[in-house]
Formats: sequence, C-alpha cells, structure tokens
Amino acid sequence: MSSLNDTVVYMDNNATSMVAKEVVDSMMKYFSESYGNPSSMYTFGGVVGEAISKARSQVADLLGCTPDEITYTSCGTESDSTAILSALRSYPEKRHVITTRVEHPAVKSLCENLEIATGRKYRVTRLKVDSEGMLDMAEYEAALSDDTAIVSIMWANNETGVIYPVEKMARMAKERGILFHTDAVQAVGKIPMSLKDLDIDFLSLSGHKLHAPKGVGVLYIKKGTLFVPFVTGGHQERGRRGGTENVASLVGLGTACALAADNLAEENGRVRDLRDRLEAGLLSSIPEAILNGHKTSRLPNTTNISFKYVEGEAILLHMNRYNICASSGSACTSGSLEPSHVLRAMGVPFTAAHGSIRFSLSVYNTEEEVDFVLEKMPAIIESLRKMSPFWKE
Ligand code: PLP
Repeated sequence: MSSLNDTVVYMDNNATSMVAKEVVDSMMKYFSESYGNPSSMYTFGGVVGEAISKARSQVADLLGCTPDEITYTSCGTESDSTAILSALRSYPEKRHVITTRVEHPAVKSLCENLEIATGRKYRVTRLKVDSEGMLDMAEYEAALSDDTAIVSIMWANNETGVIYPVEKMARMAKERGILFHTDAVQAVGKIPMSLKDLDIDFLSLSGHKLHAPKGVGVLYIKKGTLFVPFVTGGHQERGRRGGTENVASLVGLGTACALAADNLAEENGRVRDLRDRLEAGLLSSIPEAILNGHKTSRLPNTTNISFKYVEGEAILLHMNRYNICASSGSACTSGSLEPSHVLRAMGVPFTAAHGSIRFSLSVYNTEEEVDFVLEKMPAIIESLRKMSPFWKE
C-alpha cells in the first residue's frame, strides 16, 4: 500500500499551481511592514515602488525582454483582452482578427463578442487544427490580409499542451505589417523564450500558472508597438493600466519568475521524464487509451489521454477518492456533458472526447506520485467500463 493514500497528488498545474514557499516568503513583508502605496512621494512608499520594479526586472529576465516592456495586469484574461482591444483601437480602419479554434475562453469569448456584440462590425478567422492539434500554415498565410488588425495565437494549448510555431507566425504577420499577440499563459516558465529576438508585439502571462498567487498577470508590449489602455484611471504602469498595484502578489510574481528561470532545465528534464513515464504507463496498461495532441511539439508537463467509453467526470470522481487531482476535457453544462471545443476541433471521436483526462505536472511532483497514479488508474477505468453500455470486453 502506497504511503500516498492520505496526501493530495496534485497533477492539475495547468488549472492553477501551488504558490512556492520562496514566493510566499518574499511577499509577507508587503502585507504588514511595507504597506505603502508605490506611487507615494515619501520613502515609505518609494521602497514599495522599488520592490515592484525589481519584480518587473525578474519578469523581463524570464521573458528575455526589457523591464519597460512589462505592464502588470490582474490576470491572463485581462492581458488577452487588453492586447486585442488595443490593436483594434490603434487601427480602427482594420476589422479582421485571426485566431484559432483551440484558444482558451479568454480569447475565444472575446472574439465571439467582437462579432456578435458589435453587430458583426468585426470579422474573425478561426484557424483549423488537425487531429494532433497542429495548425495549417498555408491556411494561416492565406488568412493574413490588409484588413487584419491583429493575430492572436496561443503559444501552448492549456488542454493538450500542444506548442504552436508562434515565432514563425509572428514573423509572417510582421512581414504584412500586422500586430501579433500570443497567449503564453501556459508556456511561460515551461519552455525557454527570448522575446527580444522575436516579432511578437504582445504576450500574456498569468501568475497563478507558475507558482505565484492568483490575481496577477502581465502584458508584454514590445517597444514601439502602438498601445491603447484597457483599464484607465490613475497613472500607474506609466499610464498603461490604471489601478493601485497588487504589490505583494507582484513581488511574489517576480520571485516566481526568478524560480521558473532556475527551474527551466528541471522542467524540461525531470518533469518531462515523469510526464513521459505517466503517459507511457497509462497507454500501455489501459486498453483503448489514446493520446490527444502532438507527440513532440508539446509542453513538457502536460499529457491529455482519452479513455474510450467512459465519462471524464466519472473518472475524476473516482480519482478524487485517492486524492488525485487532474482535469477532464468535458464540462458539465446545464445537465449535458459537452466535450471540450479543443478536442472537438481536433476531431476526437465522441466516445473518446468524453473520457479525456488532462494530467499537468510541475517540479513539485515525484516519481512516487506517478507510480501511485499508475497503480490506481487501470482499476478505476475497468470498474467504470463495466458499467458502460458501450464497452464490449
Ligand atoms: N489563457 C490560457 C491559455 C489559460 O490556460 C488561462 C487559464 O487557465 C488563461 C488564459 C486565463 O488566465 P487567468 O486565470 O489568469 O485569467
């Protein structure tokens, strides 16, 4: 019997991640001892301003850009909206947006609103993906037009971990004089990046996916890119985003970015090995299990596997009995279980899309945890299949 029976086995890091101890430690002072307003003129506020400046440099170091290209926001969703709406306001004569069919709701819903709430003033092209979740570059090239204000393509998909060729896509947009935004909420801290070498104009990140607190995000705005603020108010963030800064959390974000830079090698080494061991073990020990997503162009921490003929939500409930945390690719909406738009866009068959589970690891996972999951999953799936009218042994 594993010693893990009473502890939480957390494999849902693409949903949110544990705030690292070093991050918490760096934040504490800014709740009590140094609580000044960073915009104040006196030293008591000034030291707080310096703390968020230091954090800005730590974020910039991780992204490979300069601190003045970093604007703090409240979350990844706000960063996504800010980038896309800024482009549309900067170039009001342009009415076309290019995105994909597999974006996070932060971009997906905004684009739907752009079409519907504006009485179709804007046109949105949603690029198709193939069965491995990859884009067709010819379709992309053909979609770029003089009317395109911005392209918004995620760097890595939150459900499958599939990595998109944003470097190349940004270059192609730039050649046509079109702005390029990438939602890198899942990619930052998991794969190396150096924005100074790329044609990306806007990049979104979110603190809570990389072991910083929830409620802080960043919008990278390349130097020289036209920008119109989304949240207006005071002159914080050099007039780019109003509102008194979430100081302690931003200090935490800086620490988390410094940690992430230190952990990149481990993320792409030990974490990748753990993920591969988990993936290979599940695919070999459970019949009719299939991998969703590209085999190699994928984040090192993510695997999305469909267990055919069972419901993802039922699998999660059984996993919960052992305190194993992961996500399913279906959402229970108004009594019906709808498979995710990502898996539908990939053409994953109905019987498989319903039984998909995403495991997303972090540097805090261990081999013992992977073995525990590998020990429990075959029996969970077998017991559920016994109750399934579709399963024939
Ligand atoms: N974009 C992607 C790809 C995400 O995975 C998420 C969160 O799951 C978001 C945006 C939204 O980030 P936030 O929760 O900080 O608003």
